Amino acid sequence: MAAFDVVVLGGGTAGVHVATEVAGGGKTVALVEAGLIGGESAYLACLPSNSLLLSAGRGEPWEDAVARRAEVTGGLDDSAAAQRLNRAGVQVIRGTGRITAPDTVEVTRAQSAATTKLTGSDLVIATGSEPVAPPIEGLSDIPAWTTAQSLSSPDLPRRLIVLGGGPAGCELTQMYASFGSQVTLVEAEPRLLPGEPAFAGEILAVALRRAGADIRLGSRATKAERTADGLTLALEDGTRIDAARLLLASGRRPRLSGLGLDVLGLEVTPGMALPTTTRCEVAGTRGQRVRVWAAGDVTGTTHTHASHYQADVVAANILGRHREADYSAIPRCVFTTPSVFAVGTIPGGTEETTGAGDGNGPDADHGPGNGGKTRRMLRIARPPSAEAASAEAASAEAASAEAASAAEASPVAQGGAGPRLVTARARLGDTARGYLGQDDLGRLELYADAGTGVLAGAVAVGPDAASWMSEVTLAIRAKIPVAVLADVVHAFPTYGEALQTALRELAGTGDSPARADQQEKGTGTLSELDMETPEDDAIEQHQEVIADEAVASPRREVPFDVNEADAAEQERAVGFDDDDYR
Ligand SMILES: Cc1cc2nc3c(=O)[nH]c(=O)nc-3n(C[C@H](O)[C@H](O)[C@H](O)COP(=O)(O)OP(=O)(O)OC[C@H]3O[C@@H](n4cnc5c(N)ncnc54)[C@H](O)[C@@H]3O)c2cc1C
Repeated sequence: MAAFDVVVLGGGTAGVHVATEVAGGGKTVALVEAGLIGGESAYLACLPSNSLLLSAGRGEPWEDAVARRAEVTGGLDDSAAAQRLNRAGVQVIRGTGRITAPDTVEVTRAQSAATTKLTGSDLVIATGSEPVAPPIEGLSDIPAWTTAQSLSSPDLPRRLIVLGGGPAGCELTQMYASFGSQVTLVEAEPRLLPGEPAFAGEILAVALRRAGADIRLGSRATKAERTADGLTLALEDGTRIDAARLLLASGRRPRLSGLGLDVLGLEVTPGMALPTTTRCEVAGTRGQRVRVWAAGDVTGTTHTHASHYQADVVAANILGRHREADYSAIPRCVFTTPSVFAVGTIPGGTEETTGAGDGNGPDADHGPGNGGKTRRMLRIARPPSAEAASAEAASAEAASAEAASAAEASPVAQGGAGPRLVTARARLGDTARGYLGQDDLGRLELYADAGTGVLAGAVAVGPDAASWMSEVTLAIRAKIPVAVLADVVHAFPTYGEALQTALRELAGTGDSPARADQQEKGTGTLSELDMETPEDDAIEQHQEVIADEAVASPRREVPFDVNEADAAEQERAVGFDDDDYR
């Protein structure tokens, strides 16, 4: 029996970060890892996937791309990561851990089947997530890959079926199609990325089809059979698709089975995520002789950065620095071309589950999250809206046209439970950068909370969207008023200009959240928004100007105190005209 202050179960992104931080804070730490130190992200998910996508974008041949992937993932050799942990003062124990008493983890060693017992006063569960096999007859008899298997294989299948149209399914479809595989993506839902607003999945479907992939939406796979060349997959409508391989990207679930959680008084069913408090303490474990924490996919989060963030929160709390996680602005990304970036709340998507999802939805593959101050199961269950359903019926090209016309629409207030969201849209094609890049697909939507005058969420589709949308993440997290955001100057020519268009649209209509806020409260709202900065006075003055103008002019496009004659002159002086680049 070896005694530590902290025992960390699982050495992926979350576990490694907690262990390193608390060791740095003076705690004795043991980290138990059954597989690769560093977990999925570094070896079998984010890094290899993004490496291959980038190689595809550079037009490299498959063999070169595989060589680059091997370089990026260190040839699946985790000894450097283990050494880093040792140097940080963490004792690494290789093997499979199981909780046998509230303060005890028994580790079955990887090589020898010998067992070791570890005790600690803090236990961190960071065992990640695992793929879930969909209910398809004959699945176990055919050549199938999990995402991890595909991302570590040197094979490029001539014909591939990707099952699942979530983020991983879309990325891998584009990647294999770019390298020349004949890819068919099969998705049971009527659109790709079902957890995000319809336009994102519709644009992505156009992009994937342009890359040569066959996209079958609203198609449920029922039966698989082995053939001489690989397999045949039967769909519910009777269609049969032949391929050399099937890639399963149809869902993941928190990896909790066999951990001995019942010893802690926790009842978990397959697919359920560990319920945690905002401090990332596992709910229902108070009063044990150990404090139990959780971080990463095991809590229902689905991104590396979310795992890292929770690990930060856990480490701070273990070290006695009270810290609560704020899930209002956790980015959700799909690294296709164009990429998809989403953050915060989306219209109709504010429902929270209790962590009892079946793990089969595409959202389970590093899919959508949702803000929530007291609960933080990041999965969301969202029935398609009537608007989305009709959009789904449209063809992919028509969807693009629909997106274009919607871009001209005024902000729209969304009904339903939760905050009243006001939406503004912009097309990347209307910016100089979009014109230069011949971007006919890119688009963004911003969602502002009409009650508070701050952004609640955003979704963008476009080249490298995560980079130029990151200011929205900050704006949501810091609750910066829309009126202030709309006055931010964006560099020319960048996609920031599309952001600027949408922000000004939000700030400048009769339904402006900024204005709704002013009218409700009668004064500036900065103190209520926790924005006590040295700039408060200036911002407040600015908002008063907007409020005054709102009375005189119920609908203005640019609600700022600019002298329009001066502005027009300045535009002429630099010889800049919208028509120059349309
Ligand atoms: C194909 C794919 C692509 C992705 N791309 C991205 C991306 O681009 N960006 C992004 O942010 N996210 C991405 N993700 C999600 C990201 O990989 C995960 O969110 C992240 O790896 C979760 O980290 P974690 O620490 O919770 O779990 P993991 O990294 O899975 O670590 C958990 C560790 O626990 C170990 N373990 C489990 N049970 C035991 C046990 N009983 N005893 C000992 N050890 C145990 C496992 O071996 C594992 O190493 C992707 C996911 C997939 C599937």
